[in-house]
Amino acid sequence: HKYVYDFAEGNKDLKDLLGGKGANLAEMTNLGLPVPPGFTITTEACQAYLASGEQPAGLADQIAVHLAALEQGMGRRLGDPDDPLLVSVRSGAKFSMPGMMETVLNVGLNDRSVVGLAAQANGNQRFAWDSYRRLIQMFGKTVCEVPGEEFEHAIDEAKRAKGSADDLDLDADDLRALVDTYKKIFSKHTGREFPQDPREQLDLAIGAVFDSWNAERAVIYRRQERIPADLGTAVNVVAMVFGNLGPDSGTGVAFTRDPASGAQGIYGDYLANAQGEDVVAGIRNTVPLQELERINKAAYDELLDYMARLERHYKDLCDIEFTIERGKLWMLQTRVGKRTAAAAFVIAGQLVDEGLIDLDEALHRVNGAQLAQLMFPRFQLDHGFEAVATGIGASPGAAVGKVVFTSARAVELAGQGEDVILVRRETNPDDLNGMIASKGILTSRGGKTSHAAVVARGMGKTCVSGADALDIDVPRRRFTVAGQTVTEGDVVSIDGTTGKVYLGQVPATPSEVVQYFEGELDPAATDDALVRAVHRIMSHADATRRLTVRTNADTAADAARARRFGAEGIGLCRTEHMFLGDRRELVERLILARDANERDESLAALLPLQRADFVGIFRAMDGQPVTVRLIDPPLHEFLPPLEQLAVDVAVAQERGEDVAKEEALLAAVRRMHEENPMLGLRGVRLGLVIPGLFAMQVRAITEAAVECTRQGVRACPEIMVPLVGAVQELETVRTEAEKIIAEVVGGSDVEVLIGTMIEVPRAALTAGQIAEAAEFFSFGTNDLTQMGWGFSRDDVEGAFFWRYLELGIFGISPFESIDADGIGRLVRIAAEEGRAARPGLKLGVCGEHGGDPDSVHFFHSVGLDYVSCSPFRVPVARLEAGRAAV
Ligand code: ADP
Ligand code: MG
Ligand code: MG
Repeated sequence: HKYVYDFAEGNKDLKDLLGGKGANLAEMTNLGLPVPPGFTITTEACQAYLASGEQPAGLADQIAVHLAALEQGMGRRLGDPDDPLLVSVRSGAKFSMPGMMETVLNVGLNDRSVVGLAAQANGNQRFAWDSYRRLIQMFGKTVCEVPGEEFEHAIDEAKRAKGSADDLDLDADDLRALVDTYKKIFSKHTGREFPQDPREQLDLAIGAVFDSWNAERAVIYRRQERIPADLGTAVNVVAMVFGNLGPDSGTGVAFTRDPASGAQGIYGDYLANAQGEDVVAGIRNTVPLQELERINKAAYDELLDYMARLERHYKDLCDIEFTIERGKLWMLQTRVGKRTAAAAFVIAGQLVDEGLIDLDEALHRVNGAQLAQLMFPRFQLDHGFEAVATGIGASPGAAVGKVVFTSARAVELAGQGEDVILVRRETNPDDLNGMIASKGILTSRGGKTSHAAVVARGMGKTCVSGADALDIDVPRRRFTVAGQTVTEGDVVSIDGTTGKVYLGQVPATPSEVVQYFEGELDPAATDDALVRAVHRIMSHADATRRLTVRTNADTAADAARARRFGAEGIGLCRTEHMFLGDRRELVERLILARDANERDESLAALLPLQRADFVGIFRAMDGQPVTVRLIDPPLHEFLPPLEQLAVDVAVAQERGEDVAKEEALLAAVRRMHEENPMLGLRGVRLGLVIPGLFAMQVRAITEAAVECTRQGVRACPEIMVPLVGAVQELETVRTEAEKIIAEVVGGSDVEVLIGTMIEVPRAALTAGQIAEAAEFFSFGTNDLTQMGWGFSRDDVEGAFFWRYLELGIFGISPFESIDADGIGRLVRIAAEEGRAARPGLKLGVCGEHGGDPDSVHFFHSVGLDYVSCSPFRVPVARLEAGRAAV
């Protein structure tokens, strides 16, 4: 079995086998770029090693063969005392992963070859001893788990003794002494001498890379990111080139475009006389890459040429690591580079302009999560504020407001029109009202799956969690951070994308992407590169997608906004919201009605109000379909809460007041009380139990449609019956509704469809029967998830989902992204059996999953006709529907 590949044998498509780094090193080698020679040990070797605990048969020999070839090519032997070949040992999995072993440089140095290395470098003793101390340090830390601070402490001591802060001021003697100290640290922690045999160094380093696949942090990361646990990592063994040979040497990183804005230009950092890690470690100040032109014009021009070639070859932004050894450029790594959301759109647009990719490919280069990020307001780029703490960017956006420490205070100040930021150590369900009232949430504990994070994302509210530099004192209403005290009412700014926390009011800008969707920015006239790119890509998504995108909207204003955002109809208009406010009293009268007369009176009073609501919505949608859901929640939600009412009545009685009316109300609330209201008297069950309720709504909808039509506005109502589990329920409602519709429509040109939600598992499983009575299905995936898993959405997310996420039971809350295997299967069954029973059955989804990127792809694959989501997510759904179709 072949476990080792020379760089010349691989290519960029072999990431599974060679890891990302190895595959790209091979690709560069074959492009003719100057890559130091080397070879890659495959992920399969790692898998075999991890399975059996020892190197697979033949691996050691294959390494020996490739090492010998490398030695021959370089004209040097590994660790040769007189003229040593040195190598780096670099891990490289298919996906880069925090927590895995990093790189060991200078493998092959020992007490004898360090002398040979100095000779090789024209007697440069300083360089040789610096390289040796680096080996002991990296090898000790990453291969043998010696605490890194001990080495850092020792080098700091040496610098202090020199009276300098710069390691360049340490001379050969200092470094030789440091090597001695390092070796002592090494043997103190490992109980053995630093290994002098070069091949043993190599084998130990390779084994450590393999083992690091199962390091705890790597395991946790994989679970969360759903990276399979059995991929394994590759190991790259690369001949060393040296950036620390003097001022004509150095090392750097470069991007082919600005990864922040996407702008074309030269981006990168360079550090003279330094080796690898120094650039990122921030030991010395780097210079901007442009400076290299002055330092070494030939190498600079060559680098720019390679960068252009790599871009054309990968057809994408690349990032690059390089080293210059005595004036000669070496390429040490490349990959398609990470970028911000804005840069992703801008670059995709540029690449289309440059003819490198087509528009279909551009759709693959961006995603809905990035678009969603761009729709939040954000802090201005050069705001000049210094962050006082950095937590986890748990829910994106830029929020500015006065600090409050309790939910009650948040509600109070927000009620006075203030913007507030709720600051807590961590949040719990009692904080819900405060979270709703706040502009943003800031916690000092917890990660991306803490209560604060999960709930804030659900609300679309900015949240920074786990900013552990904050010392929060709730009783005294203050926190301290970076030596400063912040008390209630002080203004802070939090960035839910970067996790940064600022004191004071950081200037924020509204999203230009939202301005574009709102129609306030003309993409043809603006010089905003981002808006032009978004427009172009969205237009292509619209032209490509098969799914229609509708919105969930209950008011004419929401409907109008959603249309501006590209909605093509309403997939869910909830009618219960129309029963709140001053109409509550009418509903209360309906519920408390003692006889048919009283009930009919209150229904008659509600009818014109409902009709007016629907007229407004039909007008706003002007000919587009509007799915109206008949009343769904349990009626007691429209009554005062039981406990409060009981107390009020008792107090009033005590005072001797006349409480006859309140007592009647209390009796009704008691009567209607349910232990599990979400599984109780709601949805279609209400319609079957409360005479006249659904009839009134059907009449209001149909009359509104007729009225609009008379005024020249086309109305396309679709009446949706919630919570159906059996076809008989739907048939009963349908028979009554059809009579009313026929009577109201009369001769006018109005068509009213009747369909149902599929949100009870039984409905999904009997969809073939239900389709007989339904002209459309709309999947209520929130309830379907709730009832399918047996999770109460309102209770479980903050209570234990964090643990489920931590354990990897699911990678993301099933309320955020549809559980394709389980709940998705119900959707698939219902779609197939429904369509089999009634060809042409219209299928849509109206749960919030309709705006979730992965879910949209799933619904596309199931063959639904549309997804429906809140207005703000409509653009995301449009984009993802387009991406699903290419
Ligand atoms: P990471 O995955 O953390 O980027 P790398 O394997 O790329 O780790 O190594 C980090 C740095 O070490 C590289 O950017 C490069 O500067 C340096 N390095 C690695 N291999 C060599 C080599 N053969 N010669 C010189 N420098 C090297
Ligand atoms: Mg690297
Ligand atoms: Mg429901």
